Amino acid sequence: MNTLRHLLHDLDRGHTSAAHLTEATLQAIHAQNPHLNAYITVDDEGARAQALQADQDRANGQAGPLCGVPIAVKDIILTRGLRTTAASRMLANFIPPYDATVVERLRQAGAVIIGKASCDAFAMGSSNEHSAFGPVQNPAAPGCIPGGSSGGSAAAVAAHLCAAALGTDTGGSIRQPASHCGIVGLKPTYGRVSRFGVVAFASSLDQVGPMARTTWDAARLLEVIAGFDPRDSTSSNQPTEPWAQRVAQTTPDDLRGRRVGVPRQYFTDGIQPEVEAAVRAAIDHLQRAGAHIIDIDLPHTPHAVAAYYLLCTAEASSNLARYDGMRYGHRADDADDLHDTYARSRAQGFGAEVKRRIILGTYALSTGYYDAYYLRAQKVRTLIRQDFERAFQQVDLIATPTAPTTAFPFGAHQTDPLSMYLSDIFTISCNLAGLPGLSLPCGQDKQARPIGLQLLAPWFHEGDLLAAAAAYEQLRDA
Ligand code: GLN
Repeated sequence: MNTLRHLLHDLDRGHTSAAHLTEATLQAIHAQNPHLNAYITVDDEGARAQALQADQDRANGQAGPLCGVPIAVKDIILTRGLRTTAASRMLANFIPPYDATVVERLRQAGAVIIGKASCDAFAMGSSNEHSAFGPVQNPAAPGCIPGGSSGGSAAAVAAHLCAAALGTDTGGSIRQPASHCGIVGLKPTYGRVSRFGVVAFASSLDQVGPMARTTWDAARLLEVIAGFDPRDSTSSNQPTEPWAQRVAQTTPDDLRGRRVGVPRQYFTDGIQPEVEAAVRAAIDHLQRAGAHIIDIDLPHTPHAVAAYYLLCTAEASSNLARYDGMRYGHRADDADDLHDTYARSRAQGFGAEVKRRIILGTYALSTGYYDAYYLRAQKVRTLIRQDFERAFQQVDLIATPTAPTTAFPFGAHQTDPLSMYLSDIFTISCNLAGLPGLSLPCGQDKQARPIGLQLLAPWFHEGDLLAAAAAYEQLRDA
């Protein structure tokens, strides 16, 4: 399948139709998904109806900015009338009565929502191995995990089973799978995109964002989903921008004079040598195009993982209290037995990772430990944010690896959850600070597994982030 940009072009010229495109995409999904397992639910009927509508709209001169292109939605984002499981047994039968704001905006833009992409249950994980619907294969690295938690979205994009996808990113769940599957993933500034109708994991960190095969495609998707939403109290009223247009006008020359910070703390011992080499080569590319490369310090980086896992589990333990086995697709058969229903349903409906996090979070919030853990983690969070405030007085962008290694084989971290948590070491600080961050492909290791370059920009500077990524994309492909 072509890029989203080319598909729109072909649709506009009448070279293809939404109906045809949808049929071809469904066919590809049904051929490949039994092996890939990127989708939990495929909406054949719904997609066909949306495609017909899109073709009609286009014929009437009312084509929206995504009119007729197939988009996958992470299964943690509510879709009206279409099962939304959060990749958990707890919500295995949940049919939402309303759309998330981002889905509403996709529909208004004319997108064809082709299906619901798998992820780690409740978006907790880095490998997609914690989905109640089975592991997802990485199309770009056979035998390996696709990354997580938005692994199904990344795999669907990489395998051309949609034009682009929505993911969510609480500690790296858009950027890390994008890196492992060789695609572009963007986590917007906290508040840039509405969280209304998104199953909450850690509300002060969660953001929805685009996953796509090119920077332009990600920019177009961001244009559609971003913007103020009165139904999300943390939503920002910063105006959106014509990001795709800016990307289209970008040339490598735009990098001239840009100050790019390279944080010492992000090139540490555990990093795979090929990842470091590829990221340094990418930074050299930027320099040759005229960017000023500046070594910077983000001194509190070593504490980010610990602070993140305290804060996200604390918030998760509170957010997940609502899953009591009586709502969201469940029925309590015996009203006298409510307590039993609650306990049994939580025992069966949550997987091991989700339980681990609820227990950890409850502990961190309990009287007597609150000051030592939760409060202290909040203070570290402030220090990390201040690190970035200082850094962005010196530089316009920051460049780092997205993940310390390329995609790892299934089961590699099974017996040691802590070692899994460390795979988020380069993505987490961005969420703690609320910054926008983007990952894009910058090479491969010896086994041809993709490597990602992460770029960070100041709050609400998605335009600079996308423009720098687009400039690098051109240098890389030249
Ligand atoms: N991998 C991280 C975690 O397990 C991040 C997840 C996410 O961003 N949703 O919490």
